[in-house]
Amino acid sequence: MASKIRTFPGGGVHPHDYKYLSNDIPIRNAPIPPEAVIALQQHMGAPAQCLVAPGDEVREGMLIGKAQGVFSANVHASIPGKVKEIRDIYLATGIRSKAVVIEFEGEFETGGTAEGDWRSKDPQELMQLIRDQGIVGLGGATFPTPIKFTIREGNKVEFFVINGVECEPFLTSDHRLMVEKTEGLLTGVEIVSRILSPRRVLIGVEENKPDAIETLNREISKKRLSIEVVVLKTKYPQGDEKQLLKALIHQEVPSGGLPLDIGAVVSNAGTIYAIYEAVALGKPLIERIVTVTGPALKSPANFKVRIGTPVGNLLEECGGFISTPGKIVAGGPMMGFALADPGVPVVKGTSGILALSEKQTRPGLQTPCIGCGRCVVACPFGLSPTALYKWIDHQEYDEAMSAGLMDCKECGCCNYVCPARIPLVQGMKLGKILARKKKG
Ligand code: SF4
Ligand code: SF4
Repeated sequence: MASKIRTFPGGGVHPHDYKYLSNDIPIRNAPIPPEAVIALQQHMGAPAQCLVAPGDEVREGMLIGKAQGVFSANVHASIPGKVKEIRDIYLATGIRSKAVVIEFEGEFETGGTAEGDWRSKDPQELMQLIRDQGIVGLGGATFPTPIKFTIREGNKVEFFVINGVECEPFLTSDHRLMVEKTEGLLTGVEIVSRILSPRRVLIGVEENKPDAIETLNREISKKRLSIEVVVLKTKYPQGDEKQLLKALIHQEVPSGGLPLDIGAVVSNAGTIYAIYEAVALGKPLIERIVTVTGPALKSPANFKVRIGTPVGNLLEECGGFISTPGKIVAGGPMMGFALADPGVPVVKGTSGILALSEKQTRPGLQTPCIGCGRCVVACPFGLSPTALYKWIDHQEYDEAMSAGLMDCKECGCCNYVCPARIPLVQGMKLGKILARKKKG
């Protein structure tokens, strides 16, 4: 008997997903950029310390930025060439970062395709490889992976969850990865399982990816692995860690807590594949899969992209625009960032580039709140966005904080349903900054 399709219990929305634009398009290599702009701040935590200077020759995969402390990550050259300059840039998130600009020169080295003997390594050695190769969470949060996998004494990992949900509309990079790179992904799962020794391993995939579900199940049974593929209802934000755990293991991460508080570790499918490449193939995180799509774009694609490739190069490779885009967005439409400059480079956390149509982005007229409560129903985190917004508007930050402002994940569900077009998420973002400032 078919099991019931699971989801998280309260809130969430069902935006049109537009995945059909790119979900059948196989991954292909994006052209090597003549110049790669590699940010030293591509992760949560301290920026990497620059190890090169203008004029230096670099090899593909060479360490050019060293993690500064535990809460940081190594950065590697994504192309061979010569360092042209070190300059300050703005990333899609608005964060300012130093970046190493490499002019492409010379040859690519062969290698990185034969699997090494990772099975003879112990968990500490595997963790060191993950650290050395600069692995961070590729789902967007860019949290340094070794920190996530460091389990405090006395804690036990009950559930290792692979997040294959990809619930943001338009994005299909994880979908294609699960279909096309299944073997590497499953080897990545085996590597992480060796580190964490979980009691159960689960992969959560939304039901709108039937080919990924089928391929995963087939390969898992062929390899006789003990991994459960759990089919989830298509609902946004199913891919949020907390919502995913509610759906999969029916447990709730406490406010301000981490999945490990309920014995779980969650990693995105792209991250697990990067771990496979890092550990089994000895390849640092120098490229990732990026969906480039949107109704304003001529030919959407799923690219394997060298980190540091300017966004404009990818849009060009898609044949440019068929209509004037209303907005270019890095990431998904719900939580992504509008781009003003196509020179912004792809970083480790770039899952997609969207060229939205003018119609999709035309701002509606904002009107006063009518107290309909739709935002309250839609909030998957049990907050009252309308009340929070009013407190923030009246600078009553203590009230907003007590009502859970910091639990807001900026998912955008409240904005999506508000008939008055009140910019609720923007209010939450600003409110958090001002509340923190007031607290000192
Ligand atoms: S953006 Fe924040 S307040 Fe709005 S629905 Fe998401 S979590 Fe709730
Ligand atoms: S959805 Fe908009 S109009 Fe309705 S209560 Fe929330 S803020 Fe007010």
